[in-house]
Amino acid sequence: MNVHEYQAKELLRRYGVPLLAGKAALSVDEAVKGAEELKAKTGTGVWVVKAQIHAGGRGKGGGVKVAKSIDEVRNHAQKILGMQLVTHQTGPDGKKVHKLFVEQGCDIAKEYYCALLVDRATSHVILMASSEGGMDIEEVAAKTPEKIIKVDIDPAIGYQPFHGRKVALGIGVPKESMNKAASFFGALYKAFMDLDCSMCEINPLVLTKQGDLVALDAKLNFDDNALFRHKDVAEMRDPTEESEAETEAAKYDLAYISLDGTIGCMVNGAGLAMATLDIIKLHGAAPANFLDVGGGATKEKVTVAFKIILKDPKVKAILVNIFGGIMKCDVIAEGIIAAAKEVNLAVPLVARLEGTNVELGKKMLAESGLRITPASDLTDAAKKVVAAAGGR
Ligand code: ADP
Ligand code: MG
Repeated sequence: MNVHEYQAKELLRRYGVPLLAGKAALSVDEAVKGAEELKAKTGTGVWVVKAQIHAGGRGKGGGVKVAKSIDEVRNHAQKILGMQLVTHQTGPDGKKVHKLFVEQGCDIAKEYYCALLVDRATSHVILMASSEGGMDIEEVAAKTPEKIIKVDIDPAIGYQPFHGRKVALGIGVPKESMNKAASFFGALYKAFMDLDCSMCEINPLVLTKQGDLVALDAKLNFDDNALFRHKDVAEMRDPTEESEAETEAAKYDLAYISLDGTIGCMVNGAGLAMATLDIIKLHGAAPANFLDVGGGATKEKVTVAFKIILKDPKVKAILVNIFGGIMKCDVIAEGIIAAAKEVNLAVPLVARLEGTNVELGKKMLAESGLRITPASDLTDAAKKVVAAAGGR
């Protein structure tokens, strides 16, 4: 799960990560009021009006603007709120801005990059940083990988100040600010661990003219499987940032990810789902989604899953690939039939069922009167569905 910058900052502030004062706003008037409050609190005469969307690159896209007067705050807020913000992370359609964050302006001396990530190979958290802040880290990694410094943090020991100093030294933090850097990374690590984050990115991490280190941007990703123990984080979910299909899927506990291809997939088990995507590719087409209905899916879940796939206009054919282990094939068949009748199945459907009650499941589909092509195995299913979707 993702949250907005202002929410990430609210969480990080609780852990003592140094931040500037800021206010979230849902309207232009709220933005102006927020700016006035910031002035009263901090004495600032410079503000930054920032679009709140779940995507980076807002600055380049015109979603981050400096204001030197309250009138400018109002002007920027008017322009940004409601705009369709296009960045390299939003896709060409962009995202509509529903919220703003008005922050105290910062006297920037230098911008760095830093992130905490989980290294899947070692199962350790990695502290990663670069002198090239404010830039796309993928570009830095591709062009000047030597400018990225990484330190592995052993979970048995946890974060130690020497980790932070090593990284700070590597990216050129001045000596006088070294201890501030070590405590900054320490606070960040504590937040990362306590909140069960899967990723934390501060870009830019700023050195101010006064020698302080401040998180000027903040991106947090959370492990969905740990959200049950962070109710306050779970409540930060913003449905306007997710596709309707993803919100619907989350409600029914379905693992759904929309992709670019034309073949809708309904599969049980993440491994089989991945194999299904692979075999569709192997036979020359591309999947429209990843969808794992889970091991113990009910008829209702299958019906919802089916409806979600059918709502996607890209879908030209559907492949149902089920191994009935815990899940029984007749339950899947029941779901398919119920959903197809409800939603008027207009695209070809190929079904490969295997496992518990497979004969019953196949019989139910065959007798349903629906246009369903049975497949004998994975390869057969892939070939048939690719052909049904219009071939390679
Ligand atoms: P994004 O990464 O989506 O473009 P950022 O929050 O990183 O958004 O902002 C983009 C740039 O705007 C930053 O690299 C920084 O130079 C500037 N900026 C952001 N917040 C402030 C602030 N409070 N004061 C001064 N400059 C800021
Ligand atoms: Mg940024």
